[in-house]
Amino acid sequence: MFIKRLVLVFLLVFAPLSVMASSPGAHPVSPENGLKMLTEGNLRFALGQSTHPNTSFSRRLLTTTEGQAPFATVIACSDSRVPVEILFDQGIGDLFVIKVAGNVADTDEIGSAEYGVDHLGTPVLMVLGHSYCGAVTAVTTGAEVHGSIPALVDNIVPAVDKARHDHPDAETPELIVQAIETNVWQAIEDLLDTSHAIADRAKDGRVIVIGAVYDILTGKVNILGAHPNQTELLGGVTPPVHAEPAMHAEPAKDAHAPAEQAPAEQADAAHADPTVEKAAAEGHAEAAEAPSSGGFGFFSFIVFVLLLIGAVFVLDKKILNPDQD
Ligand SMILES: [Zn+2]
Repeated sequence: MFIKRLVLVFLLVFAPLSVMASSPGAHPVSPENGLKMLTEGNLRFALGQSTHPNTSFSRRLLTTTEGQAPFATVIACSDSRVPVEILFDQGIGDLFVIKVAGNVADTDEIGSAEYGVDHLGTPVLMVLGHSYCGAVTAVTTGAEVHGSIPALVDNIVPAVDKARHDHPDAETPELIVQAIETNVWQAIEDLLDTSHAIADRAKDGRVIVIGAVYDILTGKVNILGAHPNQTELLGGVTPPVHAEPAMHAEPAKDAHAPAEQAPAEQADAAHADPTVEKAAAEGHAEAAEAPSSGGFGFFSFIVFVLLLIGAVFVLDKKILNPDQD
C-alpha cells in the first residue's frame, strides 16, 4: 500500500514537471548551431550535394500537429535566382523567409522579422543580399522607376550613398558590389533601430543577427558576420554570441551542443575532409528532427502521456481492488 502511494505521488509530481522541463520559449537550436546549419547546407548546395531534407509527409505532419519551429529568419531579395530554402539545403519548417525586392527592412518586413524572431524564437536572423541585385543596381545607376517602386527602393538609397561616399573612385560595377553589401548593413540597421523586440533578443544572445551575400553564379553564401557597428546599434551592449565571417563551418555533430570553435577556424578543414558532407547531413537531420519550441515538446508530451497512463492505471487498480493490499 505504501509503495503504491509512493508511486502515485511520484507520478503526479513528475508528470507536470516533465512538461515544465521543456522550458517554454527556448529554441532547441542554439544561435551558433543555427548558423552552422545554414553554412553546412549552403556548402552541400554549392558542391551539388544537396540532401533536400524535411520534405516528406512525416515532416508535413509533424509541422502541422506540432506547429512550426524554424531555426532562422531570413530577409532575402525577391529575385528568382535566390531561392532561400534551396540554397541553404533546408526543408519545410526550417526557415522563416521574408522575400522583398532589394532585401530591405521597412515596416512590413520588420513586422514579419519580429514574428520570426520574437514570436517563433528563431535563434538566427540573417539579412541576405545577392550579387547582380537589380534593385540595388537600379538605385546605383539612377534608373527611372515607376509606380510603387520608388517607395520601395528609397530604403536602398542611403546604402548606395554610403557606398559612393566610402568608395569615391569606384567604377559603377564595383560600386554596385559595394552597395549590395552596404545595403545588407542598412537593413540590419533599420531592423535594430526600429525593433526593440529584436534588439533585446540580440543583446542577450537569444538571436544572432548577421549579414550575408549570396553569389548567384557560384551558389556560395558569403557570411559577413555581425554588423560592424552592432554594439552601438544595441545601445552599447555587446552580445554574448559572435558571428565570425566565414563561409564554411565544421559540421555540427551534435546540433544541440554549443559550438566550441569559431567557424573561421574550421573553414579549411571543411574543404579538406571528404566526410564533411555526410556528417553535415547527419548533423542537420539530428537538429531538424528537434521538437517544436512551442513550449510543449514532443518528447515531453509522450512522457506526460505515459506518466498519466501510469497514474490512471495505479488509481484504477486501487479503486477496483481496494482490498488487494
Ligand atoms: Zn535583388
